[in-house]
Amino acid sequence: MTLHIPFDNTYAALPPVFYTKQAPVPVKAPELLAYNAALGAELGITAGERAELAEVFAGNRVPEGAAPLAQLYAGHQFGNYNPQLGDGRAILLGETVGAGGARRDIQLKGSGRTPYSRGGDGRAWLGPVLREYVVSEAMHALGIPTTRALAAVTTGELVWREQGGLPGAVLTRVASSHLRVGTFQIFAARGETAALRQLTDYAIQRHYPEAEGPMGLLRAVRDRQSELIAAWMSVGFIHGVMNTDNSSISGETIDYGPCAFMDVYHPSTVFSSIDRMGRYAYSNQPDIAVWNLAQLATALIQQAEDPQAMVEEATEIVHAMPALTEAAWLRRFGAKIGIAEATREDMGLITDLMQRMAAGQADFTNTFRALVDTVSPDGGPARDEFLEPEAFDSWASGWRARLEQEADPAAVMAAANPVYIPRNHRIEAMIEAAVAGDMAPFEQLNTVLADPYTVQDGAEDLRRPPAESEIVTATFCGT
Ligand code: AMP
Ligand code: MG
Repeated sequence: MTLHIPFDNTYAALPPVFYTKQAPVPVKAPELLAYNAALGAELGITAGERAELAEVFAGNRVPEGAAPLAQLYAGHQFGNYNPQLGDGRAILLGETVGAGGARRDIQLKGSGRTPYSRGGDGRAWLGPVLREYVVSEAMHALGIPTTRALAAVTTGELVWREQGGLPGAVLTRVASSHLRVGTFQIFAARGETAALRQLTDYAIQRHYPEAEGPMGLLRAVRDRQSELIAAWMSVGFIHGVMNTDNSSISGETIDYGPCAFMDVYHPSTVFSSIDRMGRYAYSNQPDIAVWNLAQLATALIQQAEDPQAMVEEATEIVHAMPALTEAAWLRRFGAKIGIAEATREDMGLITDLMQRMAAGQADFTNTFRALVDTVSPDGGPARDEFLEPEAFDSWASGWRARLEQEADPAAVMAAANPVYIPRNHRIEAMIEAAVAGDMAPFEQLNTVLADPYTVQDGAEDLRRPPAESEIVTATFCGT
């Protein structure tokens, strides 16, 4: 059987202002580390031999029907506008329309230099490639919109980073598109209104066919993004680099660079080594999403004959976002403590618990999951997560009283509180093993995280928070 990808490319059919046609740069000795066969089947791909998969997903052979290109975009990085970014180490091979009519991009990441590489080498090393593979697939299994991982290959070449020479790798990423806030910003900033209009129409057609005009698009993106941020918050996820070029129009999580899931809960948690001011700290994420949406609004209104006339509507749309995120947050965190349809009156109960969790250095994931077995009045394991268990007990009495109004709180909590998340120390250990040639931890993480809400035999260790010596204090961009 030979590899066949049923490409159906629309981005490559847009005018060349949006991209540069560019083939991936071949590598020395491609070797397949992972292929996500289930996802491949969803995309309509018939898989070939391992060697063929390795060649194609390393970029050494451009498959039939592909129209490889590097996309152009700009973006605010840590609040500062960078007038030109673009795919500096990624190549869009093309799109497929899979089962159910879903159109998806297939992109190689780490595939060599492009006209947008600036000073970079266009490459990625194995660590960030496997991190993105595991975390994006875990995110999907958690039920949170995200790009997916189709394949990971090693290149047989070294990539030079601060740490020295590291094994090079390429990730194949699947996304419902790679349109970002920054894709709109670049044409707005350059005053290229015809391109901006065309991009807006394209985005509407591709993602929100029911949306009317630029403000309809803005509203649709806002709705998806507010749901997304609330979903991140509900699993203790910190994206780490919510620049506008990493903010997807489709509302998917994109760009797993210095991202992390919290172990011990604290609202101001930051992992990213480059986020010195804590701009993208856990609890800042809802505000940053509003800031990013305001940048999209600013870009979109540039296409109006009279931009001033659109300002009022755009402002109203952006200003409504915090309330939407809060509603989604309340729904999700209500479920996390067993309340099927939480109202504003339940807000205090949730925030009180979280304040106690922060003070008591409670593990985010394990505390919420332990609530499932703590419903009964004779105690239960949740209290043991707190430095001072009495802090939990005094909260729990009010909580149990509230749960008397609920039909099946344990079931609601079991569906909202994962057992397993990709913990940082596990990711680091997995990368270290992979660099040494041992893929077993990678396989184990993928297998267990594919079913994160179910307690699995033999996976007890993946629930364990890091020991003192295992704590990861900083995460790094893939660059
Ligand atoms: P990111 O931090 O991954 O969102 O990337 C931000 C920008 O830097 C994008 O334009 C990337 O294409 C570019 N970039 C990141 N790493 C590299 C690299 N190794 N070589 C070239 N460009 C890169
Ligand atoms: Mg990016």
